[in-house]
Amino acid sequence: MSAVEIPTAPRKPGDGVRLFGFTVGHVNMPVAFFLDGEPGEIRAPVTAFLIDHPKGLVLFDTGLGSRFIRPKGTQPESFIDLEQGDTIDERLKAIGVDPGEVRWIIVSHLHTDHAGGNAYFPNATIVVQESEYDHAFHNVAEDPIYEISEYDLGQPYLKIRGEHDLFGDGTIVIFPTLGHTPGHQSAKIKTDGGDIVLTGDCCSLKRSLDEFRLPGHCHNADQFMDSLKMLSSLERKGARVFPSHDPDFWATIPKSVPIG
Ligand SMILES: [Zn+2]
Repeated sequence: MSAVEIPTAPRKPGDGVRLFGFTVGHVNMPVAFFLDGEPGEIRAPVTAFLIDHPKGLVLFDTGLGSRFIRPKGTQPESFIDLEQGDTIDERLKAIGVDPGEVRWIIVSHLHTDHAGGNAYFPNATIVVQESEYDHAFHNVAEDPIYEISEYDLGQPYLKIRGEHDLFGDGTIVIFPTLGHTPGHQSAKIKTDGGDIVLTGDCCSLKRSLDEFRLPGHCHNADQFMDSLKMLSSLERKGARVFPSHDPDFWATIPKSVPIG
């Protein structure tokens, strides 16, 4: 037996709800895209999560999809950067998870850097706020951040309105965090190590929440601020709030192993 045992996904008896984080590409953007008025550039990770629940495997977001893959070792040609091997299906296979076994995908919203990998999970049901679904399927013809071919794939959709407890046991509670898009949502995960809130783009950077800063553009600024206030109140109650695109925060989170 090697000195270092690398935890992988197969469950052991007694395991509770386990959360795994993955980097699924990067976007190189002006910081102002995330924090209005802020100078400079940022190389922001695109993140996705696996929630290993006793009742099945759940993803929160799927990162960038196959249309952006560049061959390993080549230089990025776009502000969107996804190297071969970094897609969410490959991340899961690397820890022994078969993408065909994923039962649910909770999408924070249907932008291409959050739902781009949905195609890798043919047996999953997509959990989305109804208002996001309606927007993404009927109202985004001119908006390139929505790529309908990435999420109109024949997978069943569970369209929810408001808060939804996925398994009815309080371990995965989805709740609306509107503002970035019309039907944006977040999820509170009860792990053995405490509550973790996965935020999608209602909190892209840690500073978004710490300083109550809006992004350069959003669907509804008032709703966005209300969402930040909600995250702040969860944080005061002891939850750890995970921003979705923060390189400094993300560097502190172990990848592909259970987050304690
Ligand atoms: Zn977005």
